Amino acid sequence: MSNVDLIIIGAGPGGYRAAEYAAKQGLQVVIFEGSEVGGTCLNVGCIPTKTYVHSATFEEARERMVAVVAQLRQGVEGILSHPNITLVRERASLVDNHTVACSVSGDVIAAKNIIIATGSETKWLPIKGFDDPRVVDSTGLLQQETLPKSLAIIGAGVIGMEFASVFNRFGSEVTVIEFLKECLPALDSDIAKRLRKYLEKQGITFKMKTAVENIADIDADVILMATGRKPRVQADFANAGIEYDERKGVTVDENFKTTVDGIYAIGDVNGKQMLAHAAEMQAIHAVNQIIGKKDGIRFDIMPAAIFTEPEAACVGPTEDQLKEQGVAYECKKSFWRANGKALAMNETEGMLKLFVADDGRILGCHAYGAHSADMVQEVSVLMCRDTTIDQLRDMVHIHPTLGEILFSAVN
Ligand code: FAD
Repeated sequence: MSNVDLIIIGAGPGGYRAAEYAAKQGLQVVIFEGSEVGGTCLNVGCIPTKTYVHSATFEEARERMVAVVAQLRQGVEGILSHPNITLVRERASLVDNHTVACSVSGDVIAAKNIIIATGSETKWLPIKGFDDPRVVDSTGLLQQETLPKSLAIIGAGVIGMEFASVFNRFGSEVTVIEFLKECLPALDSDIAKRLRKYLEKQGITFKMKTAVENIADIDADVILMATGRKPRVQADFANAGIEYDERKGVTVDENFKTTVDGIYAIGDVNGKQMLAHAAEMQAIHAVNQIIGKKDGIRFDIMPAAIFTEPEAACVGPTEDQLKEQGVAYECKKSFWRANGKALAMNETEGMLKLFVADDGRILGCHAYGAHSADMVQEVSVLMCRDTTIDQLRDMVHIHPTLGEILFSAVN
């Protein structure tokens, strides 16, 4: 049995970032990956879907996806070739709170610390007839070799809306079926509604407040089940004594430490913030905990984007949440159609809402429109430094840019 400083299970954005950072801090690391390095994000998530968004046709998207994913995988393999890192291409299971076993070779490795970064998987709703061969998850949809003539999407969350937008542009007849009143529940409802209405004008059919009872009732060539993802927990986690729940994932504290000393759980598997950049930042924080280094990462400020066309993005609470919480706020709005660069780009659809506290601090920002993710990124940075709108008014923004949309909201 060999001994190292840190064992990491899973080489997605959480796992490989933890390995890279820990190795640079001088730790000896063993990282296990049971499939391809890069995890969901690189192989079947963020990267393939964004390659689709930025391709003109379905055929081009499929071709480019293979090349882009292969290139990025090589990049991750490069990161994991650091002399302090050993990549084991096998599934791993926990033997006890310090020991991990390889699934194939049966080798056993021990470490003072373990990071679980096993990610998440599709949550299949047990709707009657869901084993119909027309039903696929996001991975299955990315594997389709021909463009479906008609595509039905169950669920108007991030994954459902992104696929709806891009397959509609490729020429599929797209219908989105959603149980709730509005799409994208994490997004301000006003912004979400405007985005949905715009996508409706582009040709997508939305059936809101509709529950699918039987797959046989859906008339479409392909049916995407986009009803969420669940943390990928394993029965052997119990061998180490850590607490976990099939639905909510591994229980962790604010430092991503599980209920057992020396074992951390980062990324999708803890069910906190299922985003690639959240996994990466949690990785850095967990390693900092292990080496006793303080950092100032603000996990309460977690921007997110939805890559529909146009894209949408948000950071901080929605207006409905601010009202529910009884927070005093002012809402400042700004529109793409009033911005010179947006007009020049012929990207006039979009609105930004900035929420400001009584003392001028920025509470959050929700927007849809071309490059709204970049704008929300700027707001997140400002929020991390508790910037007030008076301070924002003093910051020069280049003309002509879409960044002026944010600037004009406060002027
Ligand atoms: P994962 O990326 O899931 O990686 C976990 C890895 O662990 C996998 O490689 C798996 O094979 C491995 N593993 C599991 N169990 C074991 C074991 N026992 N032994 C060895 N290896 C194991 N997020 C964004 O921020 N932006 C986006 O635009 C975005 N788009 C998405 C689009 C889609 C279609 C999907 C499905 C997801 C998207 N996400 C996006 C979410 C993002 O992919 C995840 O939040 C991110 O991948 C989580 O990283 P992770 O490291 O926690 O887990």
